[in-house]
Amino acid sequence: MIDINTLWNDTKTKLSARLQAISFEVWIEKLEPICFIGHTLVLQSGSQSSKNTVVKNYGATILEAVKEVNPIITDVKIITEAEKADCLKQQDYTLGDELVVKKSDKPQDTGFTFNKKYTFSNFVVGKSNEIAFAAAQAVAEHPGGRFNPLFIYGGVGLGKTHLLHAIGNYINEKYPQKRIMYITTEKYVNDYVEAIRDSKSSSSSNFREKYRSVDVLMIDDIQFIASRQGTQEALFHTFNDLYQNDKHIIISSDRPPKEISPLEDRLRTRFQWGLLADIQPPDLETRIEILKKKADANDFYLSDEVAAFIASNIETNIRDMEGLLNKVMFYSQLSGQQVTSVAVAQEALKDFIDCKKEHFDAYDVLATTCKYFNVAESDVTGKKKNKEFVEPRMIAIYLICDLLSIPLVSIGSIFGGRDHATVIHARDKITEQLKTNKKLNIQINDIKDMLYKR
Ligand code: ADP
Ligand code: MG
Repeated sequence: MIDINTLWNDTKTKLSARLQAISFEVWIEKLEPICFIGHTLVLQSGSQSSKNTVVKNYGATILEAVKEVNPIITDVKIITEAEKADCLKQQDYTLGDELVVKKSDKPQDTGFTFNKKYTFSNFVVGKSNEIAFAAAQAVAEHPGGRFNPLFIYGGVGLGKTHLLHAIGNYINEKYPQKRIMYITTEKYVNDYVEAIRDSKSSSSSNFREKYRSVDVLMIDDIQFIASRQGTQEALFHTFNDLYQNDKHIIISSDRPPKEISPLEDRLRTRFQWGLLADIQPPDLETRIEILKKKADANDFYLSDEVAAFIASNIETNIRDMEGLLNKVMFYSQLSGQQVTSVAVAQEALKDFIDCKKEHFDAYDVLATTCKYFNVAESDVTGKKKNKEFVEPRMIAIYLICDLLSIPLVSIGSIFGGRDHATVIHARDKITEQLKTNKKLNIQINDIKDMLYKR
């Protein structure tokens, strides 16, 4: 019987290679597989309006991809929450064997499609990942050769899965006859559990056959095998079968073998036979380059300032950093505004990043505002009531309230001991004026830009 989640995940892999990242994230990622009705796959979307958009703009593409994953599916139905109960009543519980994913006739095909978005050429190489990258390339050039097994480890979102897919894509291209299998550890564990559950049937020997008949086996996120004693044992045999026949084993993990616990010693030592290559979080320069590459792939113009702004907000997870870029692209698409300045990027991301954690303080805001208006700080913090000082004074107060979380009385004391009511008055007045005053909007954005570029 077909597993609806696997079917949908495989379909998403195909769709993510075909759609713009932003469309994928906004429309496809949010769909939830519900059930089958006949040969129709039922997916639920968040609201009536998103359902309409998905049906209209992506319906045909989704169906095409589902059919490629499993040709038995003939239709896709998008529903809303309100329709779910009704659909579940009609769902098929008895999908027969015919729904088992049909594999291509090519003998080398393992039924898995590597994500075309993940290649060597769009992987940005820096000090943090150069060894893992070079090793991945060497293995892809000569599978079964050096660095067997290749064990790539590093934190979440640092490109391990990307490298595995890049190896897969490369080998598929260069050695089309080689059978490559990529599997997540979760899936491997499930397969194993299923195999022992049906130990009387053929699935147990199928399990062994399935994994020992490949030329390259990639297992992603092996840390999840910790404390799975039975699966560890099975993997030990798979490993030996493959290794003895010069088949390549490539493993990823979020930590080195010595930190996976509990893990059988004989597996741990085997993991260390080949090459252990770690990936560290990339430096700022590399992160900016990654963002530029991702933006380019989406035909999105990303200014240097905005790239630097995003990259400096996320240091340890490229997936999260990409998420912010997607949000900026989405904001730009929705608002029709080019996001070239830091101020607009900040607006686009205000719900997602902690803008209060800045590398400047209240005095920097005051100094920058005074510089912008070309007035002396002592006049702005002093008692003078001339418009040329009052305006920068109120703007500086507004900006400090907006950008930094410090008590109103502390702000008052910076401005010559004014009380908190005066601070509130200035803040609210500028907030109000910003709704209609275009010039003021520009001035405030300019000052913010000066602050972020300091
Ligand atoms: P992991 O498997 O280590 O958790 P992924 O391989 O899923 O991380 O990477 C997360 C995202 O970050 C992917 O979209 C990937 O393309 C991107 N990424 C990570 N490192 C790089 C890099 N050096 N160059 C380009 N993209 C990268
Ligand atoms: Mg991964």
